[in-house]
Amino acid sequence: LIAQASMGSIQKKPHVLCIPAPAQGHINPMLKVAKILHSKGFHITFVNTEFNHQRLLKSQGSDALHGLPSFCFESIPDGLPPPENPDATQDVPSLCKSVDGTCLGPFKSLLTKLNASSSPVTCIVADVLMGFTYDAATEFDIPEIVLWTSGVSSLMCLHEYPNLLERGLMPKESGVLEDGYLDTTIDCLPTMPGIRLKDMVSFFRNTNPGDEYMIQFLCVQVERAKRASAVIFNTFHELESELLEMLGSIFPPCYEIGPLNLLEKILVDESVSSLKSNLWKEDHECLKWLDSKPPSSVIYVNFGSITVMTHQHLVEFCWGLAKSNYSFLWIIRPDLVVDNSAMLPPEFLEETNIRGMLASWCPQEQVLNHPSIGGFLTHSGWNSTLESISSGVPMISWPFFGDQQPNCWSCCNKWEVAMEIDNDVKREEVAKLVIELMNGERGTELRKNAIDLKNRAEKACASPFGSSIVNLDKKLHHSTSHTR
Ligand code: UDP
Repeated sequence: LIAQASMGSIQKKPHVLCIPAPAQGHINPMLKVAKILHSKGFHITFVNTEFNHQRLLKSQGSDALHGLPSFCFESIPDGLPPPENPDATQDVPSLCKSVDGTCLGPFKSLLTKLNASSSPVTCIVADVLMGFTYDAATEFDIPEIVLWTSGVSSLMCLHEYPNLLERGLMPKESGVLEDGYLDTTIDCLPTMPGIRLKDMVSFFRNTNPGDEYMIQFLCVQVERAKRASAVIFNTFHELESELLEMLGSIFPPCYEIGPLNLLEKILVDESVSSLKSNLWKEDHECLKWLDSKPPSSVIYVNFGSITVMTHQHLVEFCWGLAKSNYSFLWIIRPDLVVDNSAMLPPEFLEETNIRGMLASWCPQEQVLNHPSIGGFLTHSGWNSTLESISSGVPMISWPFFGDQQPNCWSCCNKWEVAMEIDNDVKREEVAKLVIELMNGERGTELRKNAIDLKNRAEKACASPFGSSIVNLDKKLHHSTSHTR
């Protein structure tokens, strides 16, 4: 009887299929959206690539993905050869090319299977980068909502790219740029005064072999997103209101419902709160270590899931942290350094033994919320940026690629919650900026601004009238009442 009753309730629920792009920084926000929708009464199917599905089973434990009849996990192939060392999915252009060329068929088969069940799919929520889903949604006549997992500034840069190219403001040919070219100001983006080529989406430089493909790929996905029935953003109104208003006339209805890490805490019910999306196994020892440190005394260093650096950069960061004399928690992924050469100098380990903690992956949201954290040395991935802002933690930014450059620009110039560190990082600069961030005049200003934004973010997520809560309700109304 219980089984029948629960089957009955599943049948009545609208069924949302959520499909993230297959990378950590995309799976995390999509899982939060899925959990929030589930808590609002939707039946969820969450679709990962087979490779990531297996990784999640490994990092989260085999029971982790077999939760509830109303929250199911499915997987489709990414088309890449079985992973070896190095892991091909860390090569972003190859991953995008493979997913775009492979996934449509398996995705349509999955939709056919789900539609033959007692609970056909009523809405697709897809990452903007999973543009092939739009073709399937059209064929199956299912409305599609897309999720943009980065800041609005990077979407605006991509939207403007063809125009900037036509006006001769972007390099047309691939290859080495003339000295000073990257510092050219691109003064025609209305809400981004003073932005330079080096602050735009990194692929625009067209200096790396994959850049040309990535620009083309991203521009196509952005054009497809314009045909979706709505766009949701992991941001909040007060953070990017001007840009959101401008996008309103270009894109379908836009709903900013972030920071999702805050909304998740408020809205997600117990039945799904334990579902996690970390592809690497988290080390919880670092939280105990943080417990032993005084308030605001530790600099947290983490460059996310994709950044790679040279061995020399690693060494410069080491000695910069050592010279700063501050305690640090440094997360070093096994593949953070090119050629897997993440060997730290033994003298550095000896010298910083007492005030340094190293781990390969951590529960970042908990770390950033820990009272001992005083600053964050980051690559400025969008999730890390929002998680830092919503914990009131100021940053030092060392952007690596993609949207991280515009994120860094917004943090340093618009919101004044970060200081940028030179791409060719040197130990003296690391030490100087860490000391400034933790205890200098500029660091104090940045912390004040970060705390102010944290308060605004919390207000956006506060029931019943916070802007993100209101937008979520509007979006729910949209997804239950719209057909194609
Ligand atoms: N993350 C984590 N532990 C780590 C490193 C990262 O939980 O040790 C999470 C982090 O909280 C964020 C995501 O992984 O949600 C990384 O996304 P982001 O957009 O910041 O960067 P990306 O990895 O996409 O470059």
